Amino acid sequence: MYFSGMRIDIITLHPELLESPFSVSILKRAIDKKLVDVVVHQLRDYSDDKHRRVDDTQFGGGAGMVMSVQPISSLLDQLMSERNYDEVIYMSPDGSRFDQGEANQLSTCSSLILLCGHYKGIDQRIRDVYITKEISIGDFVLSGGELPAAMVCDAVIRLLPGVLGDETSALTDSFQDGLLAPPVYTRPAEWRGYKVPDVLLSGHAKNIEDWRHEEAVKRTQLMRPDLLE
Ligand code: SAH
Repeated sequence: MYFSGMRIDIITLHPELLESPFSVSILKRAIDKKLVDVVVHQLRDYSDDKHRRVDDTQFGGGAGMVMSVQPISSLLDQLMSERNYDEVIYMSPDGSRFDQGEANQLSTCSSLILLCGHYKGIDQRIRDVYITKEISIGDFVLSGGELPAAMVCDAVIRLLPGVLGDETSALTDSFQDGLLAPPVYTRPAEWRGYKVPDVLLSGHAKNIEDWRHEEAVKRTQLMRPDLLE
């Protein structure tokens, strides 16, 4: 069968870290429905070294190993000869900060490579020659790029058409309109004396919409005033 969904290739030294995120819930369903194909590559398999080494000490000295160019370039050359990639992304704490706008943009791509680093990171020449985008998930340092890559995949895949059951649901999430999402409630309408706001029980669509918007603005003013600037 011809596959017309999005393709994501993830390059890692620890494929096990990328198993569970794609084997449950929404991401699993997206893969089962062939809306996305996630291919995880063990970088070590592309090492020419007889001990399958993928890293070496730093030129100039200093603590920490650096991931070598050879295995990464061999794998990237192979992938890039097989198809065109919209972006070759390196997960890196010094990259640009990931956000919903970036997720929206990536969700329009048809193929992506996500490269996960380890140790001190990858040889700078790989970044100079192959990498088209560098993404950080926040100002803190993790031991590997796998969790960041899984986060990016989750944020992107749930935006692909057909992935979420209710088509409008992703559009009403936080950040999509520059605001945080308003509070949400479900049954029972009263719990330990705490009541759900009357307007939500009123059935009056316009009033409900207005209330949600007001609450979204209030919450954003309180929690994330920077979003309103
Ligand atoms: N020495 C590097 C950090 C290496 S951390 C530096 O100071 O910038 C090892 C790997 O974990 C990185 O190559 C990257 O792939 C991943 N990583 C760590 N923190 C990250 C973050 N905040 N966002 C994205 N990837 C991160």
